Amino acid sequence: MSAADELEIRRTLSGPMCASARAAIACMTLWRRRASLCAMPNDPLDHDRTKLEPGAVTRLSPLVRRVVASNPGPFTFTGTCAYIVGEGDVAIIDPGPDDEAHRAALLDAVKAERVTHILVTHTHKDHSPGARALSRATGAPIWGCAAHVPVEDHPSGRLDASHDTDYAPDVEMADGSALQGAGFTLTAVHTPGHASNHLCFALAQERALFSGDHVMAWSTTVVAPPDGDMAAYMASLERLAAREEEIYYPGHGAPALSARRYARGLATHRRQRENAILARIRDGDADIATIVARIYVGLDSRLVRAASLSVLAHLQDMTGRGLVRSSDGAATMDARYSAT
Ligand SMILES: [Zn+2]
Repeated sequence: MSAADELEIRRTLSGPMCASARAAIACMTLWRRRASLCAMPNDPLDHDRTKLEPGAVTRLSPLVRRVVASNPGPFTFTGTCAYIVGEGDVAIIDPGPDDEAHRAALLDAVKAERVTHILVTHTHKDHSPGARALSRATGAPIWGCAAHVPVEDHPSGRLDASHDTDYAPDVEMADGSALQGAGFTLTAVHTPGHASNHLCFALAQERALFSGDHVMAWSTTVVAPPDGDMAAYMASLERLAAREEEIYYPGHGAPALSARRYARGLATHRRQRENAILARIRDGDADIATIVARIYVGLDSRLVRAASLSVLAHLQDMTGRGLVRSSDGAATMDARYSAT
């Protein structure tokens, strides 16, 4: 790790942190020590957590404002971030949950303006359900990711229930699709991994990327099979690291600066996690529950399921790459694992 990286991490570590953030990142503590990565806001422009409180409208750049929904929790930090892009004729990215107060806050933030587009990064219930009612209120069409395709009868599929199955975009955006707004362009970047239909949106005018839940600065991203896929997540991270954007505006928490370096750091962090899982298996830990208990010491009980699915995601990836063997052939929650 370079001196510049260390400086960046030290700066990151100086930020404030709330109780819900502590709960959510408890499972990452060990990994942060090993990877020297942190799960806290790293934006000196926006260190003030009061600006991340529900309903607050925060100007982040000449073209970007943020309004946070009132759905704080262990997976959502202070709540889902909706972004207003442009001035006068604007787009709104990720309207969040179908919540009356959040919708009122968004409409109030743009009351002297016209909403021309509503965009959705992915169909988790904390991102997309507010789109239809906001579309009705503003007349703006919904652009964005494809509808969720459920994975049926999968033994690890319970977190699939976190998808909004009512979501139906007016315009489905594929990788590379561009939306031309008034003074801004938003280009879809397909980034599967956290969700198979996940899109990031690049704002060329400011070399910025709305990163949804693919990259967040406050926490590592949940990758939960069956819809979540670790191999796809890693490939998507590498793809972002090779792009030109310098700042990420995530679906939760403050922006991530030094964006490409941050994406590369996250990839390193995941590789270190993978190595730790492999080390446990080589030492004889053969099932996911044991691996989770050994790796995520002191984990908040609310996060055990997510941690287990994250380990499963790694095991699916490692099985596919021939590093690990599963007693079930494919990697499943109940299989026993051994090193090849
Ligand atoms: Zn999500």
